[in-house]
Amino acid sequence: MIEETSIKELKGVGDKTQQLFEKVGISTVGDLIRYYPRGYDVYEESVPIGEVEEGQIVTVTGAIFGKVQVSGTRAMQITTIHVKDLTGTIRVIWFRMPFLRNTFAKGGTVTLRGRVINRKNGLVMEHPEIFYPSSKYEERLNTLQPIYGLTSGLTNNAVMKAMKQALTGLNLSKENLPEELRLKYELAEYNYAIRGIHFPEDKEVFCHARKRLVFEEFLTFILSLRILRDSNEKQENEYVMEKHPKIDTFIGKLPFQLTGAQQKVWEEILTNMASDTVMSRLVQGDVGSGKTIVAVLALLNTALNGYQGAMMAPTEVLARQHYESICNLFETYDIPIKAALLTGSMTTKEKRRVYDRIECGLVKIIIGTHALIQDKVFYDNLALVVTDEQHRFGVKQREKFAEKGGVPHVLVMSATPIPRTLAIILYGDLDISVIDELPANRLPIKNCVVDTGYRNTAYSFMKKQVAEGRQCYVICPMVEESESIEAENVIDYAESLQSEMGDSIKVSYLHGKMKQTEKDEIMTRFGNNQIQILVSTTVIEVGIDVPNSTVMLIENAERFGLAQLHQLRGRVGRGKYQSYCIFMTASKAKETKERLDILNHSNDGFKIASEDLKLRGPGDLFGIRQSGLMDFRLGDVYQDAAVLQMASDAADWLIKNKHDCLKMLPDYERTSSVII
Ligand code: ADP
Ligand code: MG
Repeated sequence: MIEETSIKELKGVGDKTQQLFEKVGISTVGDLIRYYPRGYDVYEESVPIGEVEEGQIVTVTGAIFGKVQVSGTRAMQITTIHVKDLTGTIRVIWFRMPFLRNTFAKGGTVTLRGRVINRKNGLVMEHPEIFYPSSKYEERLNTLQPIYGLTSGLTNNAVMKAMKQALTGLNLSKENLPEELRLKYELAEYNYAIRGIHFPEDKEVFCHARKRLVFEEFLTFILSLRILRDSNEKQENEYVMEKHPKIDTFIGKLPFQLTGAQQKVWEEILTNMASDTVMSRLVQGDVGSGKTIVAVLALLNTALNGYQGAMMAPTEVLARQHYESICNLFETYDIPIKAALLTGSMTTKEKRRVYDRIECGLVKIIIGTHALIQDKVFYDNLALVVTDEQHRFGVKQREKFAEKGGVPHVLVMSATPIPRTLAIILYGDLDISVIDELPANRLPIKNCVVDTGYRNTAYSFMKKQVAEGRQCYVICPMVEESESIEAENVIDYAESLQSEMGDSIKVSYLHGKMKQTEKDEIMTRFGNNQIQILVSTTVIEVGIDVPNSTVMLIENAERFGLAQLHQLRGRVGRGKYQSYCIFMTASKAKETKERLDILNHSNDGFKIASEDLKLRGPGDLFGIRQSGLMDFRLGDVYQDAAVLQMASDAADWLIKNKHDCLKMLPDYERTSSVII
């Protein structure tokens, strides 16, 4: 079997399974083996029942105590047992498995692994995996089971089975990294790494395998960036523009003064756009530092010079928000420039209308999502492309724009805190500007890390804030990494919070599975303060700007990466009001407190990221994916910062020595899909 073999050749993969695999982007054996696990289940030692905490997945071992009960309705039968060890007793339930009554009838000891939830009458372990008798658990102890990204109908077991077959039957691939590099950086051999990432015997194998694959992923990426940078270096500026006189009048009329940092970055952009070569610039600035207005100035100047400018946002909600605020600004300050919104969820008819208006040059500023780079969009002198909160503007995307006319200026806005040394490696093809100053009217956000016992106090606090005219966000508890379960949680949570808050306060919710029009409606209503409390998943993580919101309550804060928490917190403290961020956690673990405390004491995104790195150390790879920055398959820019540095050095070495392996690397097609 070779990598190009269709997965249909695998035993047990029929038409139906093939379709399911296609859905997650797997059509060949090669695709399959590069479908890395999202995480691993670790079967750890049992913990004493008396020490079990809410929210955790744990293993307990104890004697079945008392009778097995089956209750509930016919459609939803609930089996309950009690399990007891020397330290305590815990209630355990299963749904729709009444036959367990017989299974457990003879008693004895059982080992159970599952999540513990706090119900009205105490802690309950819900629907755990059963090892009965207990000795069955020993085989599993300390092993790692891969967990794959799934789609409805495709089970983890099915992926595991196919994977095992593929890996056993696969011909060995050629090692494509030079021996010197492998020795120098202690990198595992390719075939070993691929096997080790899917079915590691232990953590050590996993770490080795992963390091090798992450290295390769980074190296490929860096090499293609270097190639891009070289080809970009002297790209002529086809859209030379000066500052239009109306710009300063516009700036003068704004309700605030630009900060020194905004002014500095704006001037850097102006210099670029007036120079001989095309602009490729990254603007970094912490959440709330005011990046949008800088982008708007660049877009406006482009439009006033008679060209088109486009701004691409990662979500429709954010695109709409930008569109609306730009329209508002232009209306308020009498700017005779027309803007348009273009998003994927618009009807064909609506889209066609916008396409026409773009093509004939009637609209000068176009805001949208990825829909902006569809083949059907033809621009009329597109001179500037801004991407907001897009972690990476793809090589291909720039090419796409260039195909449609000249080579536009590119401005990438990012709030992801990342140390300068890393930024230089990752954005090697871009010049970097930093907005390192917050607007003067801001009060620092007040933070606190609290346990769940504080929830009611937090609710009263929110009530008070709403009574003063403010608004709040609640980030809902994460239970599973599954979108549909998350959606249910959000809905349940919002319902119970609504009854808690009473009729005078409107609570609503937002989650990833909602229709775009619904999301837009909720965001618009929240923006107008028709909704006072918004319960949401992390879909509001980036960009959303409702300066009247002053409270951010994050449930299960321990389950998020610090960088992500910092972004979430950035949704408040965006206006003149004192804002608050409450990190709520059920975990009593010392490390959790330590980690969250970093946020508690700092509002500086750059500092938070590096402190987190220090605290977690490079060994902590089972943790949460920290950054989500640039969708690498495996690598994480923060977590694997050291490997990133190695890959960068290796890239220099390969280029300097004009090494043969450069012919194979970078695999341009694969890399550029990573860079989106
Ligand atoms: P981000 O950098 O997170 O994208 P935004 O550009 O959305 O931040 O700005 C956050 C808020 O700060 C917005 O409401 C914006 O109007 C306001 N803002 C931007 N610049 C200034 C400034 N110089 N002074 C006061 N408020 C500002
Ligand atoms: Mg923004």
